[in-house]
Amino acid sequence: VDRPRPLVAGNWKMNGLKSSAKVLDEIHAGYTPGLKAKVDLAVCPPATLVGPLALQAVGSRVAIGGQDCHAKESGAFTGNVSAEMLADAGATYVIVGHSERRQYHGEKDVDVCAKAVAAHRAGLTAIVCIGETREEREAGRALSVVKKQLRGSTPVDSNSQNLVVAYEPVWAIGTGLTPTSADVAEVHALIRDELKRLVGKADSARVRILYGGSVKPSNATELMAVENVNGALVGGASLVAADFLAIAGAY
Ligand code: PEP
Repeated sequence: VDRPRPLVAGNWKMNGLKSSAKVLDEIHAGYTPGLKAKVDLAVCPPATLVGPLALQAVGSRVAIGGQDCHAKESGAFTGNVSAEMLADAGATYVIVGHSERRQYHGEKDVDVCAKAVAAHRAGLTAIVCIGETREEREAGRALSVVKKQLRGSTPVDSNSQNLVVAYEPVWAIGTGLTPTSADVAEVHALIRDELKRLVGKADSARVRILYGGSVKPSNATELMAVENVNGALVGGASLVAADFLAIAGAY
């Protein structure tokens, strides 16, 4: 089976100013030939920095991504940014359906799917986020919730080039808590199996399934070693270049 090349993506959330260019410089400096041979890197800054960081990253092999996009290409949607705008600014990825978007902006699977369709239309790779809440896990519903979210949030035109799935248990995001390796393995196996239906058996093995939620240098080696974990979506730790690089170095 072709194992997909791992991807470590940083989600800066609502953090970062012009001065954050130095973080990207440090990432470039630490993205050694040895690391480049093993793992892809992406940085997803706030929308204001997508253009500047994409220019800064030209020639570096660090990809730049947005954190969200509108489903439409353009129009009367004050405050929103389209996938085409992100692509025009130099992004090649966009995160859609992050739990903070689902929680604070009421995004449902159908909305997330429309955003992923927009990402594909614009030529971007969609990083589709799914994951259960603490209540759902405690009720024994983690697997059914993840399956439903995956089915509802991924467009039919998905393939291993334009889709990355990020499993992010909501209760693990920003909390310092992480699931056990066995729990991560169970969910990622379910996602891999579901992907057969979505993109076909051959291509399903090539789709990158990231784990996200309190990934740090201290737990990255264990989490990245889990079967069907093809990288990480990193929030807090991605703001510090040394931590982000140490996580990538877990491969
Ligand atoms: C995230 O926001 O996608 C995330 C995983 O955050 P953290 O790493 O801070 O838990």
